[in-house]
Amino acid sequence: MSLAKVSYETKESTWAGWSGYSNSSEFHAAAPEAGTWSLFGEICYRAPKGIERRWEYGKVIGRTRLFPAFREQFDAPYWVVHKVHFLEAMHKLAVDLGVSIELASKVTSYDVHHPSITLATGSIIHADLRHRCRRVNSSTRKIVLGGKESLPQRTGFSAYRAVVDIKRIQNDPDVSWLLEKPSFNLCTGKSFNVVLNHEDLSDPADWRQDKDWRLSNMRKDFEGWDPVLSKIIGMIDKTMKWPLYSSSIMRRWVSGKLVVLGDAAHAMVPYMSQGSAIAVEDGVAIARCLRKVSTKNKIYLALSIFEKVRIRRASQMQEASLLNSKIWHFPDGPIQRARDQAMRPEIEDLPFSHSPNQWSNPATQMWCYGYGSF
Ligand SMILES: Cc1cc2nc3c(=O)[nH]c(=O)nc-3n(C[C@H](O)[C@H](O)[C@H](O)COP(=O)(O)OP(=O)(O)OC[C@H]3O[C@@H](n4cnc5c(N)ncnc54)[C@H](O)[C@@H]3O)c2cc1C
Repeated sequence: MSLAKVSYETKESTWAGWSGYSNSSEFHAAAPEAGTWSLFGEICYRAPKGIERRWEYGKVIGRTRLFPAFREQFDAPYWVVHKVHFLEAMHKLAVDLGVSIELASKVTSYDVHHPSITLATGSIIHADLRHRCRRVNSSTRKIVLGGKESLPQRTGFSAYRAVVDIKRIQNDPDVSWLLEKPSFNLCTGKSFNVVLNHEDLSDPADWRQDKDWRLSNMRKDFEGWDPVLSKIIGMIDKTMKWPLYSSSIMRRWVSGKLVVLGDAAHAMVPYMSQGSAIAVEDGVAIARCLRKVSTKNKIYLALSIFEKVRIRRASQMQEASLLNSKIWHFPDGPIQRARDQAMRPEIEDLPFSHSPNQWSNPATQMWCYGYGSF
C-alpha cells in the first residue's frame, strides 16, 4: 500500500487526498508498553511531510513537517500505517498474549450488570467487564445512555475510497513521481490508497449501489481538478462511497460494567486523521486504569476515571476534526485565499505561531500529538 500523504484544497467544497492510516501521540505510548516497537516498526511508515495542494493545478499551499520534526518535538514519530497491516499486527499481538478471538460472532444484546453478551447463535458469554468498540450507529450508545437515543450527525460530507494498482502509477511518467522519495514513500504492497472527501448533501438512502453509478459520480465530482489527481482518478476501476458522520458527544461512556470506546463512543470526520488513533489511546487509557484495580469492587472507580479523562480528549478531537473539515472545504473566494495566504510561512520555511492548517498549527499540534493522558 502506498502511503504518500497528499491532499488537495477545495474547489466548491471538495477535498481530495491519498493517505494511509495515520496517528501519533498516545499510540506511541502503547507500543513500548506492549513490547511492540519492532512489530509496528515493520508496518508503519514515518511520513516525512503532509502536503496540501491547490485543487485545480496542484500548487503546494501547505506543508506539515512530520519526520523528524515530530520525533524531535513530541518524542514520537508521526506514523502512517495501512489499516489492514495494523489490524493484522494487533491480531498477532492479541493472540500472542493468549486472547481468544472469535470471528463471525454477531452480538445481539448486552447485560450491563452481570455483565454478559448474547450472540446471534444464542450463546451467552460472561465476563468481569465488557467494552464495545462498534460503529457510529452502535446500539450500545443507547444502552449506556440509559435508553436515550444518540444518533450520529450527518456532516454534509462523504468520501470515495479506492485503491489503484501501483504498477499503473509507476508506468505513467506524469504521476510516477508520486511514489518517489523523499517526499513520498512506499510501504510493501501493490496498491495506492485514495480517499476523496467532498461536500455531499444527498441522502445516502438514495445512493445506488451499482459500480458504474459510483464511478461516474466520483469522476463528475472531481472534474477539472489538477491533472495529476485526474490521472489517478482515471486509473480507478471501482470505488466505495461512505457518508461521513460525527457522533454527538456522549456525557457517559460507562453503564454498569459496560464501557463504550472507539468509534462507538466518538466517531469523527477524518479531517484530523485521528479516529483510529484516539481509539488506540482509549485502549491504552483503560488498560492503565484497570491495572490499578486490585479488587473487583474498584472497577467502577477505575472506569469513572477513564470516562472522565477520555470524554474530554475524544470530544476535543471530534471538534477539531469538524473545524478542519470547514477550513479545508472553504469554497473558492476571499476566505479561501486568506487561508492560503496564512499558510504561506509553512511552505516558505519561515517560523510561524499560527496556521489555519490544523495539522501544522503549533497549538493544535501540541495538544493533539503531544498528549499523554496520565
Ligand atoms: C474516509 C475515512 C478515513 C479515515 N482516515 C483515518 C486516518 O487517517 N487515521 C485514523 O486514525 N482514523 C481514520 N479514520 C477513522 C477510523 O477508520 C475509525 O476511527 C476506526 O476504524 C474506529 O475503530 P473502531 O474499532 O472503534 O471501530 P470499527 O473499525 O468500525 O470496528 C468495529 C467492529 O465491530 C464490529 N461489529 C459491529 N457490530 C457488531 C455486532 N453486532 N457484533 C459483533 N461485532 C460487531 C464490526 O464488524 C467492526 O469489525 C477514517 C475513517 C474514514 C471513514
